[in-house]
Amino acid sequence: MKGERREIFNSASVGADKCTFCKIAKGEFPSYIVFEDETYIAFLDINPFSRGHTLVCPKAHGETVWDMKEAEIGGLFLLAARVSRAVVEATGADGFRLLQNNGEAANQVVAHVHVHVIPVMMSHKGKPMDRIKFEGKEMEATSAAIRKALARA
Ligand code: 5GP
Ligand code: ZN
Repeated sequence: MKGERREIFNSASVGADKCTFCKIAKGEFPSYIVFEDETYIAFLDINPFSRGHTLVCPKAHGETVWDMKEAEIGGLFLLAARVSRAVVEATGADGFRLLQNNGEAANQVVAHVHVHVIPVMMSHKGKPMDRIKFEGKEMEATSAAIRKALARA
């Protein structure tokens, strides 16, 4: 029964009007976009774990996968898999992680559904990953390489 369902806690909850990823999806906030269609958008993470770390989102606001239209959930992960091929090709990575956090307990910080695509090198094996800061021109070059790889796919 719907009324008895357990809720997911997220202190970062915001309405669509104040949501950064909604603003990115609407083109009101800058980002390095690698893919966009009517339903989904993919852009570089501003504070990446590795070069090419990309976030794949539904454009419609919702905090967790439970808030998504069921018909769009499959497409989100399909796109993440497709983007991962382009990210790995563009970065020369040896592997990749797909990660999707739901709720604060799962370390979700931005309360708009997103799948992380994180390319990894053999040198990352067995080690915790730190965030890396890239210059704007490096982010632009990386996003351009991913867009190019996606166009070839
Ligand atoms: P979460 O922990 O919610 O799964 O991940 C949120 C991700 O969004 C983090 O990796 C963070 O670096 C990224 N992020 C937060 N704010 C922005 C932003 O304004 N633009 C972009 N491109 N990424 C962001
Ligand atoms: Zn949103």
